[in-house]
Amino acid sequence: MRRILVAGNWKMNLLQSQGAALSQALAGKYASCAVEILVCPASPYLGGVGSTIRGSAVQLGAQNLYFAPQGALTGEVCGDMLKDVGCGWVLVGHSERRQFFGEQDELLAKKVAAGLQHGLQVVLCVGELLAERQAGQTEAVLEKQMAGLAQVSAEQMANIVIAYEPVWAIGTGVTATTEQAQQAHAFLRGQLKSRYSEVVASATRILYGGSVKADNALELLSQPDVDGALVGGASLKADSFIAIIEAGIQAQARKG
Ligand code: PEP
Repeated sequence: MRRILVAGNWKMNLLQSQGAALSQALAGKYASCAVEILVCPASPYLGGVGSTIRGSAVQLGAQNLYFAPQGALTGEVCGDMLKDVGCGWVLVGHSERRQFFGEQDELLAKKVAAGLQHGLQVVLCVGELLAERQAGQTEAVLEKQMAGLAQVSAEQMANIVIAYEPVWAIGTGVTATTEQAQQAHAFLRGQLKSRYSEVVASATRILYGGSVKADNALELLSQPDVDGALVGGASLKADSFIAIIEAGIQAQARKG
């Protein structure tokens, strides 16, 4: 059975005291939890948030990494450093990295491999633009973006989570319908089956991201192929993020 993962991507938001208050609220509420909980603060705050959530059910992730080991790469952060400050997870290929920083599948495949090599669990984000959906290219785009898994073996897939994040739904308030989400997730699971095997496809978690809120989370998370949520805006406040985690707990119970 796939355990639901509720992940918060704080992006370039929250100063130190705000992140501390939020992480304290989450860690205080969830000493243990039926679903997995992950927060991804901005990199200067990873160590601080990591100390706050230590010993709770809340896990720590970074929003990005560079694939090379340490060296002369000004401004970059490597997997060793993320492990060193207590990260268990890293996001790779978020649409904002693809759109604003020109990150493409070949680079992302190296980042995914580097994350795994350093013992991190990797969330590989994929998703189509609005124009691509309107042109009927959603599946072709998703298939192409699965190239981020180019260097990942079947055994390593145990440490990979896929996040389907339609770009037109990120930060826009427009959420994919449950049917659109389920359809894309089922397609991605089919891709995992053809790239790997039925076993890998049925064991790999696929998260939905794109304007997930307290009031739509339960319906989305109850879809058979939706195994969690990657949450941006609604992860910045304790009450809204906790409401989504609680929806995850309910969905997990429904799925048995
Ligand atoms: C995201 O950035 O991954 C995201 C899903 O953002 P939001 O929830 O704000 O749409």
